[in-house]
Amino acid sequence: MKITSIETFVCNARMRNWIFVKVVTDQPGLWGWGEATLEWHTRSVIGAIEDISELIVGEDPTRIEYIWQMMYRQHFWHGNNVVRGTAMSGIDIALWDIAGKIHNVPCHQLWGGRVRDYIRLYCHLGGGKMEDFYQTQADDANRFAELALSAVEEGFTAFKSMAVPGTMPLEGLRPVKYAEACVKAMREAVGDDIDIMVDCHARPSPAMGLQFAKALEPYGLYFFEEPCWPEVMDDIAQIQRSVKTPIATGERLVGIHAFREVFEKRAASVIQPDITHCGGLSEVRRIAAMAEAYRVSVAPHNPQGPVSTAASIEFGFSSTSYVICENVHNDVPWRSDVVTESYSVEKKGRKVGPNVKPGIGIEINEKEVKKHPFQQEVLQRIFYEDGSVGDW
Ligand SMILES: [Mg+2]
Repeated sequence: MKITSIETFVCNARMRNWIFVKVVTDQPGLWGWGEATLEWHTRSVIGAIEDISELIVGEDPTRIEYIWQMMYRQHFWHGNNVVRGTAMSGIDIALWDIAGKIHNVPCHQLWGGRVRDYIRLYCHLGGGKMEDFYQTQADDANRFAELALSAVEEGFTAFKSMAVPGTMPLEGLRPVKYAEACVKAMREAVGDDIDIMVDCHARPSPAMGLQFAKALEPYGLYFFEEPCWPEVMDDIAQIQRSVKTPIATGERLVGIHAFREVFEKRAASVIQPDITHCGGLSEVRRIAAMAEAYRVSVAPHNPQGPVSTAASIEFGFSSTSYVICENVHNDVPWRSDVVTESYSVEKKGRKVGPNVKPGIGIEINEKEVKKHPFQQEVLQRIFYEDGSVGDW
């Protein structure tokens, strides 16, 4: 059996251009689907997939690890950067999909079978409507509470908010009080049985991140995400040591070596590898094995498209340290025209039952995808009050 081509399909979903990767084989009707979505880097990733194709077209698609090693090592520059990592990840997911189809079982069965009965989903406030998630002003505590209540009404038992505003490297009490007011309003609205997460998008400096973490500690967050840049892991570790709130990080990290540092420095209680960036299903399984050794929870970053979600769910059913799956459900109304999934979602509690089809269990309607061609992603930029550049 041979890989005959690697095709990419771009599907514009407003905030992101989903990049679907199709690895085609010489067996009639046998191909695999992956996803390599990387917002604002769509053309770079498509180019990177083209570059990798010369290494692997003609190879046996069942030699997944051998192909992974070639993708990572054989163009001299290791695949530990986000563009190459994303391109590799999309191909790797598609290869596992092919493996499942060959053996006629869902991927999680290839990896030792189900370790749990269901997977819990969490949503973004607003469900993926980017204005609600990213543009609700941090001083609008009531709006946070309203959106929190509607997440619960939709059946979710956990949700994530961006209650920490963009802040200069040093600011006074104002942004900290705002964040506290928003989280307090959400907690009062939903009670203690619902899990609330706050994502800082690594906007704060280490000093401000620590202040936010301390201020929000009394509200019992499920986790507090990216309190400062992941470039200096010691800073995140310092914040984790200072609060009992579980700190989460990892969506911008590629490969086991980057995650090794998180574990060795005890920097986080939750890691968030993105299966479409970190090196695919092959690498995320290695990362999860390391997490297991440190008893760190795994909650993959997954705001991308439907193939990413299907891959995350397959992984979650086979990984003990996996605790919850990020889910964007209201981004575009035509999601279900483009993709057919084979897992079930119980509305009450938003619990996902296992995929019952081979591989990752999804099919993509290529005709429907063509109705949503590439468009430049909507820019999301932050400038501070004095005009200097901030982090989105
Ligand atoms: Mg995040």
